[in-house]
Amino acid sequence: MKVIEMSGNITMVFNESREIYRYLHQHPELSFEEYQTRAFILNQLLKYGYEDIKINVGGGGIVARLTGGKPGPVTAFRADFDALAIQEETDLDFKSVNDGVMHACGHDAHTTILLMAAKQLIKYRQRIEGTIVFLFQHAEEVKPGGAVSIVKSGELDDVDQIFGLHLSGDIPYDGVINYCPGYALAASDSFTINIQGNGGHAATPHSTVDSTVVAAFLIQQLQTIVSRNKNPLDSGVLTVANFHAGNGANNVIADSATISGTVRTYNPELRALIKKRIFNMTEQVSQAHGAKVEIDYLDGYPPLYNHPEKMEEVADVFTDTFGAARIIESPPRMGGEDFAYYVEKIPGAFYFIRAGAFAENNYPHHHPKFQIDERSLLTGLKTILSLAEYYHQVKVGIFQ
Ligand code: MN
Repeated sequence: MKVIEMSGNITMVFNESREIYRYLHQHPELSFEEYQTRAFILNQLLKYGYEDIKINVGGGGIVARLTGGKPGPVTAFRADFDALAIQEETDLDFKSVNDGVMHACGHDAHTTILLMAAKQLIKYRQRIEGTIVFLFQHAEEVKPGGAVSIVKSGELDDVDQIFGLHLSGDIPYDGVINYCPGYALAASDSFTINIQGNGGHAATPHSTVDSTVVAAFLIQQLQTIVSRNKNPLDSGVLTVANFHAGNGANNVIADSATISGTVRTYNPELRALIKKRIFNMTEQVSQAHGAKVEIDYLDGYPPLYNHPEKMEEVADVFTDTFGAARIIESPPRMGGEDFAYYVEKIPGAFYFIRAGAFAENNYPHHHPKFQIDERSLLTGLKTILSLAEYYHQVKVGIFQ
């Protein structure tokens, strides 16, 4: 553990952040079942003095509003708070006490950061122009996710802009913030195709419909969607990841075959095109060979689109706060996030804080040994306070 030197107020804020973070890390809960976590968040908000709080928003979300003494815009900040079905394997002394459940994506840190921002900002309520909305979201990890129902609840209808952050553990903490205007994270859809042929003796193919041959043919054909139907300037991937047919016998033609895989895209039109082509091609190829087919297509989260003018504005605010060397534009990633649903409706932006632990403790997200550098809690807090200052003219002095 590195020695962290800080003085005065900031030490107190850091210590308190760490205490909340470690509590949340130690008590992770699965998506849609985060009852203790929700109770903890609610309790903290009440302790800080919040009165305008809605719970069970869209099922399990918590929305706290801080309306200032002067008119101004409505800005929402979002943090997610669910954990993953992973058995933690770190040797942290605050490792998960809940068997088979772990905060292995940093959502505990996101929630800590937003709680600390809520605590600081309410002290300056009278100076705030407009309204700051603290949005704590359940169930980011498991589809359909919490965001889509929170949007539907109407609770955010008056919100002018929305911001979210994610820690990124792949790079050790160095105080850098990454941003990406436009499409930043992909839509991630998946499909399973079952081809029903007509099995029989391997020596008499003419009396069968060979599902293995149909599936093999189909896999080849599906590749042409990306190579021949997709505009080369758009990003998109179609991967057939599984192919199952037969049961090991050399002298049997398989009765049915199953293939499954994933589709990743940014552009919604391309996303729809690939889906449509998969259906058409699968049905027609099967029909041509006399096989029947069943397609199970699961639409994942939409692609996450950072409104370019908002993202640039945010990057400018951060540049003023942290210095240009710490604000780095990064290419889009193929991961997914249900924050995408908010920015489908509300202008906004999502950014990344490099937060990985050092050297031998650096593991990727969703790994049983995933851990963060706790200094990223303060970086996260500072990003929210700097946006609150820019949009709501409220200055919180803790970093001076
Ligand atoms: Mn996440």
